[in-house]
Amino acid sequence: MPLNILIVGAGVCGPALATLLMHADPRHKITVVERAPTLRIAGQQLDVKAQGLPILQKIGLKDAIKPLLVAETGLQFVDAKGKSLAEFGVTDGGKRNYSLSTDREIMRSDLVNMLYEASLKRRREIDDLAGSGKTEGSLKYEFGKSIVELSQDDDGVDIRISSGETGRYDLVVAADGQGSRTRRLAWGAEASAAAFDYLGIHAAYYSMPRAEGEGGMAKWFNAPDSRSILMRNGDRPMTQVYLFARTNAELFQQAYKEPIARQKEAFRQVYAGIGWETDRFLQGMDECDDFYAHEIGQIKIDPLYKGRVVLVGDAGILPRALHGYGHDARSHRGNHVGLALKAYSEVVRPPVDEYQRLAPGLLRAMFPSSRIGVWLLQNTAWVLASLKVDQLIHKALPAENNDGKWPIPEYPELNLPVS
Ligand SMILES: Cc1cc2nc3c(=O)[nH]c(=O)nc-3n(C[C@H](O)[C@H](O)[C@H](O)COP(=O)(O)OP(=O)(O)OC[C@H]3O[C@@H](n4cnc5c(N)ncnc54)[C@H](O)[C@@H]3O)c2cc1C
Repeated sequence: MPLNILIVGAGVCGPALATLLMHADPRHKITVVERAPTLRIAGQQLDVKAQGLPILQKIGLKDAIKPLLVAETGLQFVDAKGKSLAEFGVTDGGKRNYSLSTDREIMRSDLVNMLYEASLKRRREIDDLAGSGKTEGSLKYEFGKSIVELSQDDDGVDIRISSGETGRYDLVVAADGQGSRTRRLAWGAEASAAAFDYLGIHAAYYSMPRAEGEGGMAKWFNAPDSRSILMRNGDRPMTQVYLFARTNAELFQQAYKEPIARQKEAFRQVYAGIGWETDRFLQGMDECDDFYAHEIGQIKIDPLYKGRVVLVGDAGILPRALHGYGHDARSHRGNHVGLALKAYSEVVRPPVDEYQRLAPGLLRAMFPSSRIGVWLLQNTAWVLASLKVDQLIHKALPAENNDGKWPIPEYPELNLPVS
């Protein structure tokens, strides 16, 4: 039974879901509203190991993604003078591991573009097959528009968007990221805010011109007072800079409410003079135009739906993005929207719970506040690298272990190009 579906957000999950829905039933009428005036393609490397790659494969993008994967040569821990302290190689992202540098990373811009184009291509294919160019179903992207009002009853969801237009939908999908307004409108401001479990890590991401002669090795520098910098080049022309600070919470929280210039100032204040190439990175921050900063947290909300509104990606299951598409797309068959959303929420819960579980003491160890803590972290890295512990663990793991633990369910009725 075809449905009238609104997807809020054209980031990673929105366009991917639209494609799956069109495979499931080409007669669905799908509208995607995106707040930004064009696709928002800012962002750095995203990890598509675990469930990400198998899902991309299922929607026929396995070959398209291959040339886009970032070729990084490994990860090095460096000290305040830039001296290498420990070096780890690139690991096979098909295995269940927690290494930072894997062979399954893609720039967010490439992923967002690829998924958006794939959804449009799917629609064209459907229309071409229909011959006259006209079919019952549709896919429409509405940029520069945002959801402002939402109310629902048993049979549908009434929506008003920022342009003043109104509509009634069988299903509304919140794919509008961690600060999801759709979640806020459907669950209420209080419940939505309560679902956000802050980890106290303040992160800034941006890119800057790559220095001449710099290799493809990612470099990680830790400084006392819980500050670290990650620099990544891979095979790309621009250097990606990640600043992670587990300190100065008030300063950062205030800055997020202010313009970007003020946010940059807060990071400069916290990072100035901490050593390594920080001065160059801070200059790059001042000059960049893709700066993005936020407090890292996890969304904990159960179930993942309310009536006919469902959360996908960062809106509901932060920090992992691509879980659950299969369940969600399938759900619309037979028009049992409520039952299907319940099934989606229940199937997605166990892997999400596992991914969100943090080992006790992990954050303190990763963000040491004292000099001795930094020394300990760096020396632990040195021991692990010297004994090649990462490689030994990696070898012992079965191939494609990730997919074995939480396999992507098979849903023949989705009619996916690759099962
Ligand atoms: C600009 C940007 C940069 C990022 N950079 C990184 C990075 O460097 N590293 C990393 O690990 N993760 C990054 N992320 C997050 C990453 O994309 C997600 O964790 C993940 O891919 C899940 O994707 P998603 O589709 O759920 O959310 P997102 O990719 O965040 O997409 C959400 C989309 O919804 C849109 N949106 C938000 N509010 C509304 C609204 N009210 N109405 C309509 N549309 C709305 C946003 O503009 C965005 O396009 C970034 C996200 C964004 C938006």
